[in-house]
Amino acid sequence: MALLEVRDLEVAFNTADGVVQAVRGLSFDVERGSTLAIVGESGSGKSVATQTIAGLTRGARVSGTARFDGIDLIGADPEVLRRVRGAQIGMIFQDPLSSLHPYYTVGWQIVEMIRAHRKVTKAVAQQRAAELLSIVGIPRAEQRIHDYPHQFSGGMRQRVMIAMAMALDPALLIADEPTTALDVTVQAQVLDVMRSLQERFGTAIILITHDLGVVAEMADEVVVMYAGAVMERAPRRTLFYRNHHPYTEGLLASLPSQGGTGQRLTPIPGSPPSLISLPAGCPFAPRCRYAFDRCWSVAPPLDMVHDDPAHRSACWLADDAQGRRDNQARNAAEAAAAGSSDRTPTPAGVGP
Ligand code: SF4
Repeated sequence: MALLEVRDLEVAFNTADGVVQAVRGLSFDVERGSTLAIVGESGSGKSVATQTIAGLTRGARVSGTARFDGIDLIGADPEVLRRVRGAQIGMIFQDPLSSLHPYYTVGWQIVEMIRAHRKVTKAVAQQRAAELLSIVGIPRAEQRIHDYPHQFSGGMRQRVMIAMAMALDPALLIADEPTTALDVTVQAQVLDVMRSLQERFGTAIILITHDLGVVAEMADEVVVMYAGAVMERAPRRTLFYRNHHPYTEGLLASLPSQGGTGQRLTPIPGSPPSLISLPAGCPFAPRCRYAFDRCWSVAPPLDMVHDDPAHRSACWLADDAQGRRDNQARNAAEAAAAGSSDRTPTPAGVGP
């Protein structure tokens, strides 16, 4: 049994403008000791999904299940959630300053975290805090536990956050854009810390990121989200070398390392749809160069690619490379005939 099994997760918020469908029918498993990366542009629903699983979304309409070690976290008693969060699920966010209290020393905060969940003396908790800071690579950890968050650099603060998240040996670590605010060198160091902790303690990681470079280094499996739903799900190598969804293809084409020296990167044209008024068919259709009639009216299911249960894609043309080539050529020809340099296709019968 997987450590975390998420099935048909739906999260919606009522707003003055209408209902925001932030997460739609999300399902995935996280195996013990493995890393699942959830990628997508801002607003794709990746953070809302994991925050909901951890019981951190307020005022949302939530349905589906998220079974963690046998406990369904969706709709669980707040006391159960509080116990699980921290003790069994650690969390790291992009900005450690928003999670670390500026008024208390980092040692005090780690000690409090440990003592809130474990019956240990202050001295034992303090020793553990110093040990954790040392494990995540903070020099002179015995002294530095007495420092305040502002006395650490950005990279060191993120290490402190990792130490705090790992304080109770959680089975699952949720890391939400943990390296986005860091420069490349520090980012590599922080990823190294996470990897070595995973090897040492067998922790599973859900890594939320928009950075496919980070995914390439860390992930075992990848979920690609767009407009609140999964577009493609696959093991890492499959996703990078045999991806089948046009959105994944677009993300990879806009990755600098994929362009190579002197080659132009190709951004995905347009922007994601409003989650209040989603299109009837495939949500990616307005930006997809392969779109054809059916895409505009019927949303494709997340189906297996080449009968591989580990690889799924929500695209009518997932298995049809020839169909993609034909549609791309037709859409480009139509755009040229319309005298438009915009490659964004228009639905049949709706064009200018
Ligand atoms: Fe593009 Fe159609 Fe596939 Fe959606 S279903 S990604 S619009 S080809």
